[in-house]
Amino acid sequence: DAKRSGKNSFRFYAREMNAQAAEMLRLDNSMPQGLVNGDFYLHYQPQLNLEDNSVVAVEALLRWRHPELGMIPPDRFIPLAEESGFIIKLGEWVLRTACAQCAAWQQDGPAPLRIAVNVSGCQFNEPDFVDMVSTALSSSGLSPEYLELELTESLLISNEQQALQKLQLLKSMGIYLAIDDFGTGYSSLAYLKHFPLDRLKIDKSFINDILTDPDDAAITEAIIAMGHSLKLKVIAEGVETREQLLFLEDRGCDEMQGYYLSKPLSEHDLKVFITARAADSAKETT
Ligand code: C2E
Ligand code: MG
Ligand code: MG
Ligand code: MG
Repeated sequence: DAKRSGKNSFRFYAREMNAQAAEMLRLDNSMPQGLVNGDFYLHYQPQLNLEDNSVVAVEALLRWRHPELGMIPPDRFIPLAEESGFIIKLGEWVLRTACAQCAAWQQDGPAPLRIAVNVSGCQFNEPDFVDMVSTALSSSGLSPEYLELELTESLLISNEQQALQKLQLLKSMGIYLAIDDFGTGYSSLAYLKHFPLDRLKIDKSFINDILTDPDDAAITEAIIAMGHSLKLKVIAEGVETREQLLFLEDRGCDEMQGYYLSKPLSEHDLKVFITARAADSAKETT
């Protein structure tokens, strides 16, 4: 009967929950050791300037190969690290590694590339966040104009006054500031004019249906127009097809990132990618 099966399904549910909680705990506990063991590493996804077809930047994306469980996607482990607080250490490692890698590209090629690094809210809210960024820059020798921080809307509006102060400090150092996943937050748009931002990154959920859903097309066009009137660059993420690219190009979007250009690449594969593009464009002009 209903009552009994209700109880059974509750038991089943509870067991599932426990298994899930246990797995989460296991992941969470193995992160510090994973960082020591070198199980975390970065991949780099190129960003294309639509005006001149050049690749001038990459986004650093964190990867975790768990020794027993294999690859764990960031959408699973980042929220856990945010809850436990380990994201502070992990995020610092990401920033230092990204800055060091970017400085190495400037020295040895393939080309000087700006690097965009994702920042979690709890990381940004640490009192010494700005110092940490400044140390990552100075110890890598990277000039600040090669670093961009990707922040989220919710991070900026949770403590507006404090956020504004930090952003002004970062901006005065010469670092670029972008809003990631733009359009998915609950923020009022008023904050855009107060914060010293450089770039809006249109969330990939809009780009995904840009050709089939008139609402997503309208939102994308509105973000581009608004960004430009606020003197911001606009980049689209999650571009997977040529048709999406043409749509964005036609609407005046400045840059794009997505599988259509390249998936996130290892350091080695990025070098191959950049070198091959440079060779192609040299061929075109000769
Ligand atoms: P995000 O910052 O919005 O990064 C873009 C995500 O979209 C990446 O997923 C990327 O691999 C994926 N992507 C790129 N091009 C395409 C495409 O054409 N189609 C589709 N469907 N997806 C595409 P990834 O690497 O799994 O990262 C997921 C999220 O995890 C990131 O979203 C970011 O919020 C977070 N994350 C990754 N690395 C870090 C990090 O170092 N620190 C922090 N705090 N968060 C990170
Ligand atoms: Mg990002
Ligand atoms: Mg995003
Ligand atoms: Mg995101």
